[in-house]
Amino acid sequence: MSHEVIDRPAGERGPLGHTALGGKDGAQGGLVLDGQTLWTGDHYNEGIGRDDIFDKLREECGVFGVFGHPDAAGLSYYGLHALQHRGEESSGICTVDTENGNAFNYYRGMGLVKEVFDKDKLDMLKGDRSIGHVRYSTSGASQLANAQPLIFRYRDGDLGVATNGNIVNAPEIRRELEMSGSIFQTSSDTEVIAHLIARSSKDFETAAKEALQRIVGGFAFLIMTNDKLIVASDPNGLRPLAMARLGDAYVFSSETCAFETIGAEYVRDVQPGELLILDKDGMRTDRYAKIERRATCAMEYIYFARPDSDINGINIHSARKRMGRQLATESFVDADIVTGVPDSSISAAIGFAEQTGIPYELGLIKNKYTGRTFIQPSQELREKGVKMKLSAVRKVVEGKRVVMIDDSIVRGTTSRRIVNLLREAGATEVHVRITSPPFKNPCYYGIDTPDRNELIASYRTVEEIRKEINADSLSFLSDEGFVESVGGNDGAYNRGMCLACFDNDYPTPVDEESDKSCSC
Ligand code: SF4
Repeated sequence: MSHEVIDRPAGERGPLGHTALGGKDGAQGGLVLDGQTLWTGDHYNEGIGRDDIFDKLREECGVFGVFGHPDAAGLSYYGLHALQHRGEESSGICTVDTENGNAFNYYRGMGLVKEVFDKDKLDMLKGDRSIGHVRYSTSGASQLANAQPLIFRYRDGDLGVATNGNIVNAPEIRRELEMSGSIFQTSSDTEVIAHLIARSSKDFETAAKEALQRIVGGFAFLIMTNDKLIVASDPNGLRPLAMARLGDAYVFSSETCAFETIGAEYVRDVQPGELLILDKDGMRTDRYAKIERRATCAMEYIYFARPDSDINGINIHSARKRMGRQLATESFVDADIVTGVPDSSISAAIGFAEQTGIPYELGLIKNKYTGRTFIQPSQELREKGVKMKLSAVRKVVEGKRVVMIDDSIVRGTTSRRIVNLLREAGATEVHVRITSPPFKNPCYYGIDTPDRNELIASYRTVEEIRKEINADSLSFLSDEGFVESVGGNDGAYNRGMCLACFDNDYPTPVDEESDKSCSC
């Protein structure tokens, strides 16, 4: 007998289905410059995966949950908006309407939170509990079907799942489930957890616990049924997830910056391997796994998280400033100004400037208005693509020896482009300082990284990279210097962080051949 969990199509039930906003399926846009594909997609800045004009790491997602507030959808809107930097490709909110037989209402769409939702849609998302999601995606495959929360129908009613991260053993579990008759509706690995729960003969809580025990990886889950919300973090705490209170309501978010936006008071981070169960009786805590080794993603501190967020009690801006100070101590260079590549490296550049006494200047400006647009620029404008996202300030850098602080070097193409922008604007020397150790190994926990052989630090020496990016000098932060700059978690291995992309020491078993793409 086949076993099927139905992912609801648009408008099947509830006032709202999921609807694509704009976009032309199958249309090909993009930018090719000097024979190199810089981006693809319908929108000039779409295709933010591997061929992004600046090859920064991608495929983070953000989750936001509310339990016990009459305007759960409205809070989710503002919460997801604060998490927008974690995913610009699609947004979704699912609510449970306790006034109306605990019915599910949901809406998912392609685009930014403010593009996908308007007042009418939020008004229709009635309910006092919700799960919400913002998502990045790889180029081309950015399909509405993969927008979250994923909504399923199973024997006990409705099931909504929103996740941030990646399930390392999802392909293996998926194969096993398919062999025994399960029919998958989406290509998302997140569906694996829905099938594991649906196949269990146990009650929902036990089924969810057992399903979480089967999966390996880095993830933050919000799983909602008609009468319960389950919140879970992976056994290593790789992906951040925090809890707050807003009056009597509970709020959950990938990052604490969203709590400030809605006026919620931070309570604590969800612990690795912890399971929180919320229902009409309130909240209970349980565990589905013991903490094997706390290993919060180092890149959250370096690059992903917003500077006003705290992870494990450590403020991101302050941690980045300490990284900049440490970098100055480890690899001082005499120069006229220090500048940071916006936005993630500005805090570190301030730290570097404070430590060295070299003035901090805004030598690089990011155009903040490069969000999705349906207006295709002319070919002439497209070819100025690099400068659409980042500009060097000529009056600031001209005739100056510049220290350029950046967070990481992936393939090297980004750094070369930015160094060249500074040189074209008249910088006499460009010294690159990186606030992370060399990025040598791929991530299996939800961050979109190229294969190992495309990571420049895995096959080039520091001197070779310096030449390739056209810098006068280049230094990376040491592993020890980075770990001590972040601080916290006294006595824990790597102070409770995953550094696998730098040191190849993965906190869980991984298979080099396995799919690295994000489950969320
Ligand atoms: S491998 Fe790197 S990017 Fe992936 S979770 Fe670990 S520190 Fe983060």
